[in-house]
Amino acid sequence: MSSQPSTPAEKTVAEELGADEVQAVDVQEATAAVGVVGMAVMGRNLARNLARHGHVVAIFNRSTARTDEVVVAHGHEGTFVAAPDLTSFVASLARPRRIIVMVQAGAGTDAVIDQLVPLLEEGDIVVDGGNAHYVDTRRREEALRAHGLHFVGAGISGGEVGALEGPSIMPGGSLEAYAALGPILESIAAVVDGEPCCAHMGPDGAGHFVKMVHNGIEYADMQFIAEAYDLLRGAGIEPEAMAGIFRTWNEGDLDSYLIEVTAEVLSQRDARTGGALVDSIVDAAGQKGTGSWTVQAALELGVPVNAIAESVFARASSSHPELRAAARAALDGPVAAAGTTRTPADLETFVEDVRQTLWSAKVVAYAQGLHLIRVASQTYGWDVDIETVARIWRAGCIIRARLLERIRGEYAANDLITLLEAPSIREGLAGTQDSWRRVVGAAAQAGVPVPGFAASLAYYDTLRAERLPAALIQGQRDYFGAHTYRRTDDDGSFHTDWSGDRAELRV
Ligand code: NAP
Repeated sequence: MSSQPSTPAEKTVAEELGADEVQAVDVQEATAAVGVVGMAVMGRNLARNLARHGHVVAIFNRSTARTDEVVVAHGHEGTFVAAPDLTSFVASLARPRRIIVMVQAGAGTDAVIDQLVPLLEEGDIVVDGGNAHYVDTRRREEALRAHGLHFVGAGISGGEVGALEGPSIMPGGSLEAYAALGPILESIAAVVDGEPCCAHMGPDGAGHFVKMVHNGIEYADMQFIAEAYDLLRGAGIEPEAMAGIFRTWNEGDLDSYLIEVTAEVLSQRDARTGGALVDSIVDAAGQKGTGSWTVQAALELGVPVNAIAESVFARASSSHPELRAAARAALDGPVAAAGTTRTPADLETFVEDVRQTLWSAKVVAYAQGLHLIRVASQTYGWDVDIETVARIWRAGCIIRARLLERIRGEYAANDLITLLEAPSIREGLAGTQDSWRRVVGAAAQAGVPVPGFAASLAYYDTLRAERLPAALIQGQRDYFGAHTYRRTDDDGSFHTDWSGDRAELRV
């Protein structure tokens, strides 16, 4: 079914389509079930996905040319109500109005919200589907609540293809808003075993927080894969052969979208050089900020996410050519080159060691991310259900992976403080840890940087340690700052009179 907006300007578009082909939809009639503001790649694809699922979709973009393009190119995919301005966009929506804002995060989102609010009525729902910081989402939710409006910060993952074909959607906001909005979002989300990859995450900023952590895990997952690549390259395996290894890995425990992508990238030949494309790409990784946000949130909440943090810093290290050049010229050590990263074991064993290390580190990244969500949920009173988070990450999003089915099952069956204590995970790590240690040791010996593998192993060992050297740190803090310490054999706080007679005082 095609559609036609009712404004003179857009009738021209309809005429282009052919008048017989289109169905007139009056923007002044409140017929649209849902509206999308922002017709750049994400908003357009989300609107198309909604229309393809039978929803009448109102669409609006600041520059009308983009709205027109959607009608011309995709009008036949469903029923679009193309609005020339926000007032008619709002008027075209059935109550309660459900408006998904998919514009540039930050100032763009605030600008659209400010223009929308005076046009809306009590009970209407504004959804921010962009990559907003959860603190902004909390602020906006509070501000719109004061107007009697619902504000839903919805994390949407899967990039532009996901938005069109089925993303993973992580909505926050009130339960009342979800009751009105959820069925629509669930209808366009990715589906696994009949279950949509969309669920209410919790109030105010919960959805965007979960999406932010998703991205933090994504950074870690990508860094670990890159480290595995580096080690295998050091063992003399060329990119094309390595693509085959990753394809094989993708048939087992490591089965995931990012492993699939890795094999595709590694097997790509460069038309200019005839070599592997990866060898022609500058080794400086970019970032848009959600990884840093994850680490910042973890620092503020005091949650250890060292493997995720190392992944963010690894991108930063790669992107400082002057720092790297200065250090390369100055520093001694083994030169990581082909053939240098193999342990005494044969190549097949080394490849399997790397595979097990990758799985172990990946588990740690999930454990750290899910623990961060758990602590944030407790801090903000969100009551996020971790099993549900794992469930809606199984498809549609960038970190989709076979492992998530297992994680989901473990959280369904057990009350877990950390994923690492889940029976099947614990057993898995018991089996992989020897490989993990061998690989991190071999990398250190060969001078191959593996910040993600090393940090994840340090986390594993930190958490399982009977005693940590933090006792010494407490002693040092008491020495120079009288910060006091607690004793293992008594309650209360103590201070040693370090500069006096060194007697211990109860304080
Ligand atoms: P974008 O490039 O981030 O933003 C462009 C859109 O924002 C255009 O529709 C633009 O309108 C509109 N816009 C910017 N400032 C505005 C303002 N002050 N008032 C009204 N409209 C304004 O678009 P995108 O890539 O589709 O991403 C949309 C959101 O989804 C972002 O928050 C992004 O972070 C998030 N996201 C993107 C991806 C991805 O793969 N691209 C994946 C996940 C999430 P005009 O056409 O008039 O300039």
